[in-house]
Amino acid sequence: MSETKVYLLDGGTLLVDGFQVFWNRGPGGEVRFPCYSVLIEHKDGRYIFDTGYDHDHVMRVLPFEKPLQTPEQTIPGALAKVGLKPSDIDYVINSHYHFDHCGGNKYLSEACTVCHTKELEACGCPQPFERLGYSDYNFSPDHAKERGIELPSEPELDIYTPKFETVSGDQEIAKGIWLFETPGHTAGHYSLMVELAGRRPMLFTADACYSQKSMDLMCVSGFHLDPTASIQSMERLKALAEKHDAELFYSHDWETFPNYKTGAAYYS
Ligand SMILES: [Zn+2]
Repeated sequence: MSETKVYLLDGGTLLVDGFQVFWNRGPGGEVRFPCYSVLIEHKDGRYIFDTGYDHDHVMRVLPFEKPLQTPEQTIPGALAKVGLKPSDIDYVINSHYHFDHCGGNKYLSEACTVCHTKELEACGCPQPFERLGYSDYNFSPDHAKERGIELPSEPELDIYTPKFETVSGDQEIAKGIWLFETPGHTAGHYSLMVELAGRRPMLFTADACYSQKSMDLMCVSGFHLDPTASIQSMERLKALAEKHDAELFYSHDWETFPNYKTGAAYYS
């Protein structure tokens, strides 16, 4: 592994209302949006930024989001498409712990898990309006147990005891892999920038900005802890993109996602 490569792992889609995508603005009505993970092959190891949602979890807890996910769109399935197994992953970075960003953590049993200190705290005592967002605790069966949350009995979960490494502030966690604090959507939200040899840096907003249209309208999603901080984080992402001449990649953008490279194709 010499030069850094970035793969986008398609994780299927979810259905939400337009007023949740564009808060207080809409238009309302069903919107089906994509979820994906970012795989980074780096000389220091293999990193995954977010792990999508767990289909069974969504069907159990939020079936109204009508998940569509093929076996190829699960973490093991998507990794197989690029010739890897879950045990090949060294680090999982979670932008935040909403269910559609940590559903595949349970497969990555060899990996060290990196997240913001505040995020791990916040997901343990969510605000009442955040409970559904923070409903999937498969990223840490021990945390689930401590909080009296019952996880389904699954072979992956029975053996899964992740090691956590919590961080705060902006961090370059490996050469050319940057975490930038972008709170508001949640308490300890991180966006990620990857520098590559042959192209502009890729700046993954995660849920600090769902889509290009959200950015154009300066419109936050309906799921948030603090809308004022969310707007500041969107301004920050814009400024970071300008400063680093980075290309923004959005988390749930059904209009731009079809243009992203997925599967075995990669950015380098
Ligand atoms: Zn999300």
